[in-house]
Amino acid sequence: MSEIFSSIQKKAEALKPELTAVSKAIFDHPELGKEEVFASSQHCSLLEKYGFAVEKGFMGIETAFKAIKKSVKPGPTIAFLAEYDALPGIGHGCGHNILGTTSVGAGIVAAEILKDIGGTIEVYGTPAEETDGSKAALADGGAFDHVDAALMTHPSDSYYRSGPSLGIVPLRFEFFGKTAHAAACPEEGINALHACISLFNNISVLREHFQPDARVHGVIKNGGEAANVVPDYTMAEFYVRADKKSYLEKLVGQVKACAEAAAMSNGAKVKITNFEACYDNMITNETLSDVFTENLIQAGVPEVGAAKPSKGSSDAGNVSQKCPMIQPYFSISDHGKVPGHTRDFAACTLTDYANQQMILNVRAFAMTAYQLVTEPELLQKIKDEFKEAMQNK
Ligand SMILES: [Zn+2]
Ligand SMILES: [Zn+2]
Repeated sequence: MSEIFSSIQKKAEALKPELTAVSKAIFDHPELGKEEVFASSQHCSLLEKYGFAVEKGFMGIETAFKAIKKSVKPGPTIAFLAEYDALPGIGHGCGHNILGTTSVGAGIVAAEILKDIGGTIEVYGTPAEETDGSKAALADGGAFDHVDAALMTHPSDSYYRSGPSLGIVPLRFEFFGKTAHAAACPEEGINALHACISLFNNISVLREHFQPDARVHGVIKNGGEAANVVPDYTMAEFYVRADKKSYLEKLVGQVKACAEAAAMSNGAKVKITNFEACYDNMITNETLSDVFTENLIQAGVPEVGAAKPSKGSSDAGNVSQKCPMIQPYFSISDHGKVPGHTRDFAACTLTDYANQQMILNVRAFAMTAYQLVTEPELLQKIKDEFKEAMQNK
């Protein structure tokens, strides 16, 4: 066993009581996205205790933070991303309490191991993953442009490698028409509901020509008030998703054209806005994923499954298009038995088994950070892969 391997193991095990306590405290005090005042302060206090310089309210987001610890020598910057928001009604049903402590623990151990060797370790607190994912705003604002590799892992029912996710653009369509008595003088009106329904029909016409992974789905949120009044206002919201940024941009343009054509058909006007943050598709850096997976096995994880096929979307996607990134999954429950976003899954985050898995991940993350700093050819391979992926996104 190498000296570094056993040193990481010792440091991670020593940190386990504190990480477990923070995970439990956040579990007991669930907060919704952008309200995670308690959770972010728990993480910041622990990071400060271990010598990180912490910037709270990072980039103007109150419950975001950036923690940084430099070694004695300049070198690569490795970032770990923490989430800590809960779900309404069921608390930490997505397990972000233990997700956060895994990333914070990884940062603390990695910085400790590297302090006399080189490089910089950063830990980012990224609020509101379940709603208006702040990784999108942080990434789009340039927070990760200088980062050499960004890593995080999500609790799940088993170990899975980092995979893809779809990019998403949330579009709100508001149609404006003119009221009239629907029986007495319909010729005076402009029906905003017909324009809205035409939007759905136009999208259905377009659907025949979608690429296989594209997803476009919407609802009418305002369809008018009374059957005897020609509606002058209607509103629909859609999610447009695709597996590549270039195709997503094209598809969004086509869907917007569907709305404009719908409005034009009867003289209504349409206003198109984004009602939530846009997420890029996740691009896993496979070289980085190989290194981390190997380190999980070395740390004692018996098996890591292939990436889950995902038709969902995540704010991690935006980070993955700014620097090499992985977001795999780790086991905190019996395979396939406890679905996410449930109270049962939340309870799984408190078990001895889950806390042991947290420590195995902390060890694999710290070992990966050590390799990225001490093996320049490996880091170059990761960067080359990233560069190529960006030319083909
Ligand atoms: Zn979730
Ligand atoms: Zn989650």
